[in-house]
Amino acid sequence: MEMYFCPLFSGSSGNALFCQYGNTRLLIDAGKPGKAVAEALASIGVKPETISGVLITHEHSDHIAGAGVLSRKYEWPLYATPGTWRGIGDKIGKVDPELKREIAPGREFFLGDIGVAPFAIPHDAAQPVGFRLWGGGSVSIATATDLGVFTDAVYDRIAGSSLVLLESNHDPEMLRSNPHYAPALKQRILSDRGHLSNDACAAALLRLIAGGTGSVILGHLSGENNTPGLARRVSETALNREGILPGRDVGLQVALRDEVGEVYCIRERTAK
Ligand SMILES: [Zn+2]
Ligand SMILES: [Zn+2]
Repeated sequence: MEMYFCPLFSGSSGNALFCQYGNTRLLIDAGKPGKAVAEALASIGVKPETISGVLITHEHSDHIAGAGVLSRKYEWPLYATPGTWRGIGDKIGKVDPELKREIAPGREFFLGDIGVAPFAIPHDAAQPVGFRLWGGGSVSIATATDLGVFTDAVYDRIAGSSLVLLESNHDPEMLRSNPHYAPALKQRILSDRGHLSNDACAAALLRLIAGGTGSVILGHLSGENNTPGLARRVSETALNREGILPGRDVGLQVALRDEVGEVYCIRERTAK
């Protein structure tokens, strides 16, 4: 059976990632206004009523903005760590206690047909996580954005995923010379609990591809301190240096901030 994945939105102005396997459809984050998320789902032919739940990475508004509204409207269960629930507080309005689900890094569970493996990521939020999602057999995808550094622990959690959406947030030079960002904000983004730079992303991708990942999507791009072309170029150059040709050896795409991405179909690997 195939797994489907679509970045509906990805970036510092809002995140929502769609995944389907078997009869289960879910979102990772709902960080745009509810209407925008529902419209994005409709644009790929998915009725919001058929979503089984939302996995929330952390409490920053670009990940939760539409979660409360949508949960109330469509009775979507929301899954988050205890720290993230505390961080959310009343930011998304009232959530039906029945729809408030608690998860923990390292504790795997099934949401319908999809195996969910949350893992801790280093970011300046209460208890942030990334997710690896399992279909049957060897099919899995992983998403890791909003991480200051790509640690060995994160690598271990997602190595071997068929498809990985990894943060390629900023170009450090563009960020440092950006006159609109206060020094403290620049420091936060560049820190080990901030966001992954294009170069750090490229280095991580090399490890992931060596570990068997066949398709990568660059995500959570900064609107001011990066461009899709630059993010792609940095990763492409790093791959080329190792003799890896995107398009021939691996898939390499960029998830755009305000444009629904393509729907990826991940098939079970067949024995060679
Ligand atoms: Zn974010
Ligand atoms: Zn964040």
